[in-house]
Amino acid sequence: MKVLVFVENNNGKATKAGLEAISYAKSLGAEVTAFMIGDVQADGGVGECGAQTLKVQAGNCDSRAMAKLIAQEAKDGGYNLLVASHDNLGKEIMPRVAIMNGYTLISGVTELANVANGCMVKRNVFSGKAIAEVASKSTISILTVLPNSFGVKKVGGTAAIVAMSATCEPSQVKLVEVKGNHGDAGVPLPEADLVVSAGRGMKGPENWGMVEELASILGAATACSRPVSDIGWRPHHEHVGQTGIAIRPNLYIAIGISGAIQHLAGVNGSKVIVVINKDPEAPFFKAADYGIVGDAFEVLPRLIEAAKHFTANK
Ligand SMILES: Cc1cc2nc3c(=O)[nH]c(=O)nc-3n(C[C@H](O)[C@H](O)[C@H](O)COP(=O)(O)OP(=O)(O)OC[C@H]3O[C@@H](n4cnc5c(N)ncnc54)[C@H](O)[C@@H]3O)c2cc1C
Repeated sequence: MKVLVFVENNNGKATKAGLEAISYAKSLGAEVTAFMIGDVQADGGVGECGAQTLKVQAGNCDSRAMAKLIAQEAKDGGYNLLVASHDNLGKEIMPRVAIMNGYTLISGVTELANVANGCMVKRNVFSGKAIAEVASKSTISILTVLPNSFGVKKVGGTAAIVAMSATCEPSQVKLVEVKGNHGDAGVPLPEADLVVSAGRGMKGPENWGMVEELASILGAATACSRPVSDIGWRPHHEHVGQTGIAIRPNLYIAIGISGAIQHLAGVNGSKVIVVINKDPEAPFFKAADYGIVGDAFEVLPRLIEAAKHFTANK
């Protein structure tokens, strides 16, 4: 089976979500070809996750033009399946490829597909409240993999690089400015392994120093509930949940967040959830692996001291 994986280029290297998509394709037992656009350093890291070949198209194009390039490569390369991450770029591009080539798109998959006879796979529905099993009706399908549902699996190796010579249509979008939305760990929130998040229980923006300090000690990114960003206590790019960013870190610490379903929809895939809330009836405790019933203003300083002690003695 031949699989084409679209991988986002981040300063010459594959994004973590892109590497996860390659790991996913490799785990299907497939011959994996990665496709990246722009300048790439060596093989961009894709070989280590199992891509045999990296096709690189030079140029700087928008998502519409990227979709055209991928659709053309999909036709020319004789692939059985296309895979990409279900991240922002994957969500923008892959539906266009599906329309252009008449392929079935199954988005946000969370488990390895059964490709023995067609393509059957599980995906989250109703904001993660249920799981649907869906089967593709077309010969060639596209799967987008929910970030952090599968993980990056390094198998070792180097991909052979093939420079593509297609024409990259000029972008119709003008890039005005790129502002980092990284925490102290320097990791974008969707890719962070550790996240410290806080809600209205923090009472006001002036109290976020404690949240940031804990995040900094742990090397975590910071996040928040929606009302907190709506009222301007925190920037919008930190808002997680159904209408914000969906994350699946290894550790999610939620401070003064009630745990409404719309919030949980974006974080309930986290591997370990720690909830700090003064209300023992807060719904978030039902989703927590560890819970501290207490006032954040008393718990956080103690947690910060404990984290400092822990990191100093590591
Ligand atoms: C269509 C729709 C989409 C939505 N999308 C999102 C979304 O994407 N993300 C999101 O977050 N929300 C979303 N919401 C809003 C969601 O329903 C909740 O209103 C919101 O998540 C609540 O935020 P909160 O937990 O910070 O605040 P609150 O509900 O006010 O909860 C604050 C919590 O802090 C606790 N607390 C108070 N003081 C302290 C203290 N001193 N120490 C410890 N704990 C304390 C309280 O016990 C309480 O549990 C959406 C709503 C709708 C209708």
